[in-house]
Amino acid sequence: MKTHILGYPRIGSKRELKKACEQYWAGKISEEELEKVGKSIKNYNWNLQQEAGIDLISSNDFSFYDQVLDMSLTVNAVPERYKKLHFKSKLDLYFAMARGHQKNNIDVPAMEMTKWFDTNYHYIVPEFKKDQQFSLFSTKVIDEYKEAKKQGINTKPVLIAPVSYLLLGKEKEQGFNRIDLITNLLPIYFKILTELEESGAEWIQFDEPFLALDLTEKEQHTVKQVYKQIQEKFPKLKIIVATYFEGLQDNLNLAVNLPVETLHIDLVRNPNQLKEVLDNTPKKVSISLGIVDGRNVWKNDYRESLATIKKAVNVLGQERVFISTSCSLLHVPCDLDSENNEEVLTSEIKNWLAFAKQKITEVVTLKQLFLDDNSEKNKNTILKNRKDIESKKTSPLINDPTVKDRVASISNKHTKRLNPFPSRKILQNKALNLPLYPTTTIGSFPQTKEVRSWRNKFKKGEINQKEYEELLKKETEKAINWQEEIGIDVLVHGEFERNDMVEYFGEKLNGFVFTKFGWVQSYGSRCVKPPIIFGDVSRPKPMTVKWTRYAQSLTSKLVKGMLTGPVTILQWSFVRNDQDRAVTCNQIALAIRDEVKDLENAGIQIIQIDEPAIREGLPLRKNNWQNYLKWAINAFKIASSGINDERQIHTHMCYSEFNDIIQNIADMDADVITIECSRSQMELLDAFADFNYPNEIGPGVYDIHSPRVPHKDEMVLLLNKAKKVIPEELLWVNPDCGLKTRGWDETKKALTEMVTAAKILREKT
Ligand code: GLN
Ligand code: ZN
Repeated sequence: MKTHILGYPRIGSKRELKKACEQYWAGKISEEELEKVGKSIKNYNWNLQQEAGIDLISSNDFSFYDQVLDMSLTVNAVPERYKKLHFKSKLDLYFAMARGHQKNNIDVPAMEMTKWFDTNYHYIVPEFKKDQQFSLFSTKVIDEYKEAKKQGINTKPVLIAPVSYLLLGKEKEQGFNRIDLITNLLPIYFKILTELEESGAEWIQFDEPFLALDLTEKEQHTVKQVYKQIQEKFPKLKIIVATYFEGLQDNLNLAVNLPVETLHIDLVRNPNQLKEVLDNTPKKVSISLGIVDGRNVWKNDYRESLATIKKAVNVLGQERVFISTSCSLLHVPCDLDSENNEEVLTSEIKNWLAFAKQKITEVVTLKQLFLDDNSEKNKNTILKNRKDIESKKTSPLINDPTVKDRVASISNKHTKRLNPFPSRKILQNKALNLPLYPTTTIGSFPQTKEVRSWRNKFKKGEINQKEYEELLKKETEKAINWQEEIGIDVLVHGEFERNDMVEYFGEKLNGFVFTKFGWVQSYGSRCVKPPIIFGDVSRPKPMTVKWTRYAQSLTSKLVKGMLTGPVTILQWSFVRNDQDRAVTCNQIALAIRDEVKDLENAGIQIIQIDEPAIREGLPLRKNNWQNYLKWAINAFKIASSGINDERQIHTHMCYSEFNDIIQNIADMDADVITIECSRSQMELLDAFADFNYPNEIGPGVYDIHSPRVPHKDEMVLLLNKAKKVIPEELLWVNPDCGLKTRGWDETKKALTEMVTAAKILREKT
């Protein structure tokens, strides 16, 4: 029986890599100094695994930016526009691809970035041309292997498998299918394997996440061919094919019959596949059980895991069973031991948690417990684990019968507005009295250094609550006055009091906790610190009413209340593992519903419930989509439907494709939806037009991701385009997204242009 993990976080438990990279980019440290930080993180991670007693220690799971970009550099899939810049160092070329490069008369944008499956990690999308050639360019994987070997550790290098690598990329020309590039690509993998084998490597981990996704026949066939060839060429190398994030389903037979040493399966995401896998695994193949959750922060339930291991051993025998994490630990924070502030995280809750470092120990402990469950020490370990698991199940901190009852009593009447949109529109038109092409913004105004410094000072106790709020009030007042001045129709208060659109609500809701160092890499040097939802969620008191009411008191114009939707709050947090996501989502939805009601009672006539994460929550397998969409959309409706018909509900979604979910978006029945649209030149609007989307829409008329100030004519052009496909009485005028990352100067100029553009359209009607 062997233990291993699929990968360890590389950001460093105190975000050392983030800091070093940022210093390097700012020209404050040299390449050598950056390499040194990298080395010490790798070292630390290897030692950690070794000391814990992990049998197969991973290498090449480290990366200065992204493991997919590493692979692109390894096989020399470097687009010409970067190659021709002739960087002196490979590292600078690498960072230019990752982040763009704007220096010494060079100006290239970064490569495209997208989400890594259904995680919040983003990878750099490989680009392929029709006649794409590959060669061994960066030897990182080999160097890292040797680096560890020098320290006496014979690691298991981790590589993204050839088929998955191609599928992660994009064709940049027409007329070919990237999977056909396998013929050119595979020889490079052979070279890598040859070098690794010659240097002494015995085990290789091939990450093949696409084996757990929907594959075409051709792709399935290619997977088979690839491993057949690898086996023929490298009969001595022990290959682990790692699947994760989903079950094998229709690829099960293909997967278990690959001519490899070991197949890794994700038993956290899909525990039910174990039986079928065991029933079908041929004699020579070992199964790596992904039982320690790599996507969540909860302590492993040893009793459950041991039962799973037993099942596998009964069929396969000890020798053919591996114990592992469900996926790479990249997606969880580094080390729970760093959390030693009772005020932030109580020891009761801490007892329920395990971060990456703790999960390594869990993997090893599970093996020890399995091999010897009779020793006094092991008995105690099991007992202690039982106690923690039980305490989590029964803690009054977690269980709130009132919340449970309320969720159980949700019925149709909680998910429907009183009347359909056409009747509501008549009432709203009368109550709100807005012009055609009403102008608004998405919610946040610039979170300047100053605003953030107030929050810091307040957190540190350097200013008291009253002083802090006075500052925020002034800032809000300025924002309101200024919006009035330039003639925006529906104002926002600016969200100055919010650190983050999820954290702000999490901090005010029961059932959430926060960590101090629970950072998880989002992309490159960017990390997020997701809240942890540990218990039943409820709202002890109103969360936004005070600020919204204050803003409304400053103006006779309409101020829009601003909330984050239940799906987004769920999606951007670590969630409970003892309850369906759908139930947790409904609990959050009820809390938001109450907030909506309170805002209504405070006289607020328009309320926006942001749901930028609805699309990204879609399951990886299409056959699970409708189930998800059903409960997700339902949760939004629970949150939004408790309001009177003459009040208006807005929702906002960032850049996403709507074509295949447009019916579900319509089912949300928001009176107004604002979407990010300018970067696609209004193309995203076609989905709404083709569908005859019945409610109001605000297609973003300018891109807020760049400091560039758009000219009113550009926006008039876009609005004219929109008007061609959407009836004008349904159109709103707004930017693409919130403005919190922008400066005031450009914001003011851009919004003034936007208001003028709206006026031009009104005059034409
Ligand atoms: N109301 C939020 C803001 O303006 C919306 C952000 C988002 O959609 N990501 O910042
Ligand atoms: Zn947005």
